[in-house]
Amino acid sequence: MRVPFIDIQAQYRELAPALDATVHEVLSTGAYVLGQHNKGLETEIAAAHGVKHGIAVNSGTDAIRIGLEAAGIGPGHEVITTAFTFVASIEAIIQTGATPVLVDIDPATFNLNPNQLKAALTPRTKAILPIHLYGQLAAIEEISQFGCEHGLTVFEDAAQAIGSHHRGKYAGKFGIAAALSFYVTKNLGAAGDGGMILTDFDDVNERCRSLRVHGMGRERYYYDAVGYTSRLDEIQAAVLRVKLTRLDAWNARRAEVAAIYDRELAGTEVITPEVLDGNNHTYHQYTVRSPRRDALQSFLKARGIDSMIYYPVPLHFHAPYRHLGVAEGDLPETERAALEVLSLPIHQHLTDEQANFVVQQVREFTAAN
Ligand SMILES: *Cc1c(COP(=O)(O)O)cnc(C)c1O
Repeated sequence: MRVPFIDIQAQYRELAPALDATVHEVLSTGAYVLGQHNKGLETEIAAAHGVKHGIAVNSGTDAIRIGLEAAGIGPGHEVITTAFTFVASIEAIIQTGATPVLVDIDPATFNLNPNQLKAALTPRTKAILPIHLYGQLAAIEEISQFGCEHGLTVFEDAAQAIGSHHRGKYAGKFGIAAALSFYVTKNLGAAGDGGMILTDFDDVNERCRSLRVHGMGRERYYYDAVGYTSRLDEIQAAVLRVKLTRLDAWNARRAEVAAIYDRELAGTEVITPEVLDGNNHTYHQYTVRSPRRDALQSFLKARGIDSMIYYPVPLHFHAPYRHLGVAEGDLPETERAALEVLSLPIHQHLTDEQANFVVQQVREFTAAN
């Protein structure tokens, strides 16, 4: 049996008539930027997360960068975050002119460990950027509480966490704003790049809308800021709206696959994901830990099962981020996670047979080695 890691074509097959129709409709109207589908998508996703504003932009990275800038983060500021994430989280902080301050993760969830915040505080600390890695919110109540107590802005990187919530409160409700990504492989993926900022604050909304079109003010060709070209293409917005109608069902299917993995992998040598009390996990990834991760990955590969390592090298070890001054050994849980994590195939079109085959092979690895 082949178990591919992800199946983008299956998403197309499921929705082909509606996707074809909406793309043709956009092409024929000639309204290619900031049209009705952009508005519709913003309204629908903001409503699904219970926030006032959604601002569509052309990537998740831009959603972080523009969102942070709109929230007043820039040169001279420090933003506390983690190094166990996709590079965009800290790249975007640096692009605003601010400096990322990297703290260690909670080994149980791979997310920012709130106990590390206090030691990272300096007079320049301005914000905390928790990443909701793999699809569950970081310890968001503790992080928001700490932010409140110390007058810090909390900005959520929810690129992997569309539809995730903590006790019914969704990403975007805990701080000044949150960033979503619609990159192809995300739980809600465009036919290319896309992203969105979610915020309850009118002034942040206004500034994001201005920054995504060159810093233009209400009046055309009058500028309030140095901005960007970061509109979401109307074709992408149209594609995303069609897929959005399936997102809840798709996330529910991911949860079913995760339940099979949880149940069938219990008692094997791999450590299954821990879900924090009150969290709803949307399983962008189902990531296990194994001290023999590389051998496990090869074993699965030889049996037709794809798996991925998110992320093999903590960000502070890469050349562009060495200047942050974090040394080997400074973030022990981050380093250990990079050596032990393995993400198993999980997506809405994965069958029970495939999921059962995966666990059977993991069990065989455990028994045979
Ligand atoms: C995907 C991702 C981003 C960036 O999104 P793009 O749309 O690829 O720019 C940022 N942070 C995290 C954690 C991501 O997974």
